[in-house]
Amino acid sequence: MMIAEISAGLSALKTAKDLIESLDGIEGRAALAQVKADLLRELIKAYDELLVAREEKAALLQAKDDLGKELARLKDWSDEAQRYEPQRRYPGVLVYALKNAERAGQPLHNLCAACYNKGAKGLLQATTDVDSRIRIHKCDTCGFHAPVGGVMDNDD
Ligand SMILES: [Zn+2]
Repeated sequence: MMIAEISAGLSALKTAKDLIESLDGIEGRAALAQVKADLLRELIKAYDELLVAREEKAALLQAKDDLGKELARLKDWSDEAQRYEPQRRYPGVLVYALKNAERAGQPLHNLCAACYNKGAKGLLQATTDVDSRIRIHKCDTCGFHAPVGGVMDNDD
């Protein structure tokens, strides 16, 4: 956790400051060498901890950026999803059909229910294949394929 590394780095810098302040009272080369070694150890510790904190901050900023993009994508999808309504089609396939009022010049088309529920826009494309005289449609995103006929009543 970034806060722990920053705290450890600040603590090491405080110890280093205290060591520097103690230099005036040091007598003898051995004692001075020990303080220098302690000072170097604390500065390296502070450097390492702050380096880790910087890397964690970069990772957090990247995660924030990724979440912002995902939020925008979900918002866009939420608006787009409102343009479709669920329909059961012969012989019993659930699709999300473009609402007539939402056509805005687009041809009527259907979306794959599995992709729709995952927040993706999988377009059901007609294939050249038929099953029981009903055209097979295939999702251009997940590959789901099934015969998709006319609209069934909800009670069918
Ligand atoms: Zn799909």
